Amino acid sequence: MRSLPDLCNEIKNCKKCDLQFSRKKPVCGFGGSQSTIMIIGEAPGAKEDEMGKPFVGRSGKLLDATLEASLIPKARVYLTNSVRCRPKVGETPKNSEIRACSPYLRDEIEAIVPRVIVPMGNSAIRALGEIMNNDFGKVTEISGSIYYCKKAFIVPQFHPAAILRNPKRSVKFRENFETISQLARDVEIDPLDAIVRNYDVKVVS
Ligand code: SF4
Repeated sequence: MRSLPDLCNEIKNCKKCDLQFSRKKPVCGFGGSQSTIMIIGEAPGAKEDEMGKPFVGRSGKLLDATLEASLIPKARVYLTNSVRCRPKVGETPKNSEIRACSPYLRDEIEAIVPRVIVPMGNSAIRALGEIMNNDFGKVTEISGSIYYCKKAFIVPQFHPAAILRNPKRSVKFRENFETISQLARDVEIDPLDAIVRNYDVKVVS
């Protein structure tokens, strides 16, 4: 298994898909190797592409504010994306690009072993499904549902960019993060069967 710094070096030199041509800087994951929660976004935006860091633009600011309001310390969170290079303006990652980039996400999950994984938006849900061999569905249908799959609780959520476009979803977005906050605390102390019962978890084998 590769360490996170080795993984980041590989990402910085990666040419496995066409997104290598639209990026300025590839964006590695960011956060502690012992993080309880992994948050997966779609792809780097303009600011992330400039700075080479995830979630530093408007979506990142909304995410930061929501984490703080939900009492989730940033130190417990690892941030990453379904693809590490910025697509062309106005485009979302293609399935082939998500597939090409998914080994990096798999390696991050193996290195960090997060107890709670939050894929935000359809690209992130597809990327996680690629690794977990499961079709979770679309974010409009499953936002806020809780799955238990390969020893992690998975809570799909809208991407903050979708909340900025449609603020009507912001209440549900915040409520989901409050649930994630409580779940992340409970997984450290409660037995698995109690959590599965208390949170209406769908177990995926
Ligand atoms: S998006 Fe992923 S697979 Fe494609 S070039 Fe960038 S790091 Fe490589």
